[in-house]
Amino acid sequence: MTTFTAKEYLRYTRHIQLPQVGAQGQTTLKNAHALIIGCGGLGAPVSLYLAAAGVGTITVVDGDTVELSNLQRQITFVENDVGCNKAQRTQQRLQDLNSDITVHAITEHLDESNAPALIAVASIVLDCTDSFNARCLINETCREFNKAWVYASLYQFSGQCAVFTPTGPCFNCLFSAPANNAPNCNVAGILGALPGLMGTIQANEALKYLLGLDGLLESKLLLIETSTMDFQTLVIHSDPGCSSCGNGASNTKKASDHSLQKINAVSPFGKQLSCDEMIALAQSNQAQLIDVRSQQEHVAFNLGGLNIPLALIESGDFSFKRDKPIMLYCQAGPRSEHACALLIAQGFDAGYLEGGLAKTLATSHAKIKS
Ligand SMILES: [Zn+2]
Repeated sequence: MTTFTAKEYLRYTRHIQLPQVGAQGQTTLKNAHALIIGCGGLGAPVSLYLAAAGVGTITVVDGDTVELSNLQRQITFVENDVGCNKAQRTQQRLQDLNSDITVHAITEHLDESNAPALIAVASIVLDCTDSFNARCLINETCREFNKAWVYASLYQFSGQCAVFTPTGPCFNCLFSAPANNAPNCNVAGILGALPGLMGTIQANEALKYLLGLDGLLESKLLLIETSTMDFQTLVIHSDPGCSSCGNGASNTKKASDHSLQKINAVSPFGKQLSCDEMIALAQSNQAQLIDVRSQQEHVAFNLGGLNIPLALIESGDFSFKRDKPIMLYCQAGPRSEHACALLIAQGFDAGYLEGGLAKTLATSHAKIKS
């Protein structure tokens, strides 16, 4: 008796040869069930790679129909698919690729009525939507059923990815609701190969999770800016006051989930720094100290460092070096917090002085130069 048919053995030889996978790992994949929510730009590479890898059961969820404008990036579809339901076309494409697996198509969007039943039976959930509300629903339902999920989002040339597990920080620890005018790729545009890159990373993380491999993007947020090819990984911390996984007391201002929005992920140096921490970092030459106030304010009093007013950072007319974290300060906190969010969204490692100079100066033991 063998675990696999001869055809399966041949198909998965390159997996079985890997010590980290082997026959046992391939059996794990065969017994796994991946729930892929969204069959667009991310769902295409995610579903193709998971089907090719031999994930035994795949459910794809999408209520949309294929449009000609989707073909620029949604590589599961061909011209004849225009007008057809995306989940059904994806199901057929995956079965053509791998007839040994089972593929289910749900031809409607994920919502509160279908999410519990779909997520309860999944081994891993993949967010391939471009919807903040869908991500919140996935987050809540995955917490409820102790499921891990792989998040990714795209904006123009940049992408983000993270793995949320039942024991780590959750999506809601990181992001809050977006502004009503938050861009999505329908209006913002997107370079065609970017979803392929991010979806492939999602599929790879899902396989690692299913196989129990180390090095997951858990408690981390991967930021990729493909216009400059900057890759950065930020540490995500659990928010004790998170309304999903904490006590719900948090009123922390958080980000919406696109690269250009404000992010609650913090660098290893921490997002909010005390004056002592900030000056120690700058003096040890481990960070770039930046005063984001006006020149007049800077001349009047400063903690040292460069003076780059917030307006200059907002306009994008100043480029920072990426070799060290950037520590920002201002009068009361809001300007440096805003600048910090802008820089983090661009993939920089940044922090800011909590409460600004006002709080620092009011604290008698602050080590400031006169
Ligand atoms: Zn949370």
